[in-house]
Amino acid sequence: MRYLFSNWNKISSKIRKSRRVCLFFDYDGTLTPIVSRPELARISPRVKNLIRKLRKNPKFIIAIISGRSLKNVKNMVGVKGLIYAGNHGLEIEEIGREILKPKGASTKNLLNKIELHLKKELRHIKGVIVEDKGCTLSIHFRLVSSRKKGLVKKIFARIVKPYVISKKIRISAGKMVLEVRPGIDWDKGKAVQYLLGRHKKALPVYLGDDVTDRDAFRAIKRRGVSIFVGRPKKAIKADYFLKSPREVERFIKILSA
Ligand SMILES: [Mg+2]
Repeated sequence: MRYLFSNWNKISSKIRKSRRVCLFFDYDGTLTPIVSRPELARISPRVKNLIRKLRKNPKFIIAIISGRSLKNVKNMVGVKGLIYAGNHGLEIEEIGREILKPKGASTKNLLNKIELHLKKELRHIKGVIVEDKGCTLSIHFRLVSSRKKGLVKKIFARIVKPYVISKKIRISAGKMVLEVRPGIDWDKGKAVQYLLGRHKKALPVYLGDDVTDRDAFRAIKRRGVSIFVGRPKKAIKADYFLKSPREVERFIKILSA
């Protein structure tokens, strides 16, 4: 992984030469800093305005791809005319219209049952937030004391195990969050591929900070530019990195100038 701004000439000429560029942004940790509670991760008015400005240039197609629910991430970003993908791409909207809900994305009854079970078993641990996101569940444990974090993971693993074995659900983990997803083969990478199928000639550029973004990095390998946000890690393979959401802001600013 190389530092994006040290290779800026190369990237900027690639972007300049492309007639259309599909810019994919993860939300938490990419457009906003990571904070203690998900509802506090607010996008700054500056970043919002820069995205609005960028959106006016027909060269750029802008997509926000988040683990949050579609409704939630749309509210958080609050810019019209973008592509929004919620729940890691299980719900996708383009310019306000639903364009995709993959088959098997709704497992509401099962998720409700697992949610109740998790809430019951985790209720004695202070700081756990079990969030119903419609087609997925998130169990946030950033606020849990460090000596109890392992216990949260253990209880989670025990409860979800039978459903994972029967392939009714899939689980994943991000920064201080565990997730329950429907058992279908769908992730941010699949969502990116699907969207690129609708914008075949566009150069894809994907920015994300977490392990769930790896699927998307893989999906655009060789065709596009993948940018990891944070200190480079061995486990994550991207073309470039930016150190923080502040640097993502700088990147958007340069593109929108
Ligand atoms: Mg993120």
